[in-house]
Amino acid sequence: MSSNLKDPVPHYINGEFVSSESGETFANISPYSNEVLNQVSQGMKEDINAAVLAAKTAFKKGEWGTLKLNERMKYINKIADLIDRDIEVVAQLESLDTGLPIAQTKKMVGRAADNFRFYAEMVKNRMSGEAYHVDDEFINYTMQKPVGVAGLITPWNAPFMLETWKVAPALATGNTVVLKPAEWSPLTAHKLSEIIHEAGLPQGVFNIVHGFGEEAGAALVAHSDVQLISFTGETKTGSEIMRNGADSLKRYSMELGGKSPIIVFEDCEFDRALDACVWGIFSFNGERCTANSRLFVQESISERFITALKERVQNIIVGDPSHAETEVGPLIHRDHYENVKRYLAIASEEGCEVYSGQVPEHLSNGNFVAPTLLLNVKNDMKVAQEEIFGPVLTVMTFKTEEEVIELANDVPYGLAGYVWTSDMKRGHRVAGAVEAGMLWVNSQNVRDLRIPFGGSKASGIGREGGHYAFEFYTEMKVVHVAVGDHHIQQFGKKNKAASARTKA
Ligand code: NAD
Repeated sequence: MSSNLKDPVPHYINGEFVSSESGETFANISPYSNEVLNQVSQGMKEDINAAVLAAKTAFKKGEWGTLKLNERMKYINKIADLIDRDIEVVAQLESLDTGLPIAQTKKMVGRAADNFRFYAEMVKNRMSGEAYHVDDEFINYTMQKPVGVAGLITPWNAPFMLETWKVAPALATGNTVVLKPAEWSPLTAHKLSEIIHEAGLPQGVFNIVHGFGEEAGAALVAHSDVQLISFTGETKTGSEIMRNGADSLKRYSMELGGKSPIIVFEDCEFDRALDACVWGIFSFNGERCTANSRLFVQESISERFITALKERVQNIIVGDPSHAETEVGPLIHRDHYENVKRYLAIASEEGCEVYSGQVPEHLSNGNFVAPTLLLNVKNDMKVAQEEIFGPVLTVMTFKTEEEVIELANDVPYGLAGYVWTSDMKRGHRVAGAVEAGMLWVNSQNVRDLRIPFGGSKASGIGREGGHYAFEFYTEMKVVHVAVGDHHIQQFGKKNKAASARTKA
């Protein structure tokens, strides 16, 4: 890390690295050892006010929103280049801070650079308006203008990727930004501020305030000079944010929790379905919004599939996240670990068989939860309905397509879904019937950046990604231009006599 881990991680406000006005800090804890890694500046309302003022001034008085497109995109591409240059450092920091295995954080950091390059291209090629000739009298045309100060609030589960996923389109479309990263994973957000500082963006265009959701996050949401909030996190936090922001009327993008089904039919390619199912729940330590956390496997192959799952669970490498071979690392924080453990206890109380892999004994200081299968689950159990957000797969069986669609949809969430079958007619049918924003058929979770991302039901509001992000990060403006002499009413011109009579 170029900055010293012992220093309190500073905010980045108006082009400077600064402490909190209060001088307060909080401890950032290692998921691997539960020792203090470093201190972090604890942002409060006054720090948010300073950051929003900087962003507002940069938007209203600075050149960012009106720069020639090529000039603005040079900055965006520069950020991507610097991320690529520092990929190893960022990946290591991310792994240290979150407990995510290094092999997985490396891939995610590469994706973060892509986010910037993608939006540099996208804004140039796809941010276009429409024009209408209205008879011979008017031309009406639309344009997309930046909205103003964008408030971005992000979670800890893939922090760098998710931060850049919002920062890239917000900046590329000409907004200025205040980012409030998750308090449990501040290190790579800080690294992003160093990278953006080095890229030389004008003062105040990009700002970060670290701190807790209830303090810094809430102040950002309630601020009347923040025109939009892009939020990724838990569903209940999303509701609270919309309540807290109501008085200052703003637009929201909500990327929320999930409890996504994977439906495995008897005619699937067995080994590929198994690989995808295991990866989909146990990668990123199971802390993944689109994780396939509810397996529905057709009864005729369920015994074979569950036996194969048990074997995989025993063999998954649980270990130090900095080791290249580690497949599952420790959960982000002790509180989250306790929460996942609480669900395992609930599963036993609800009558499930809890079948777990191994955590090596020497890892007992970390927040390690063994990869776990919950067997004999019924869809109305708590463990099948609530997001556990750890390496825990609930396993259920089904007989018919009709039955499994009903079961898959009987859940509050609607983020993602996965279908495995060799019958493509059925694949399309089921993909169409499952209530979720994103479906994958015979595929693991791979996503092209041009495609929209987002969920339905309790999993979110709106779509980000591709050109869909423009709807959120820009204001659509319409200009009506008269090109002929259309009729204009002449109130008060012709009827002087009538007017005099009325007044009398
Ligand atoms: P969280 O809701 O606890 O926190 C997310 C962010 O919100 C943090 O920065 C936090 O400080 C902030 N926050 C908390 N309370 C706030 C408040 N009152 N006002 C403003 N900000 C506040 O979520 P988490 O535990 O960090 O992340 C895990 C959750 O995120 C899971 O539910 C997961 O499914 C979800 N998630 C969703 C997606 C998606 O795209 N749908 C992607 C990743 C994660």
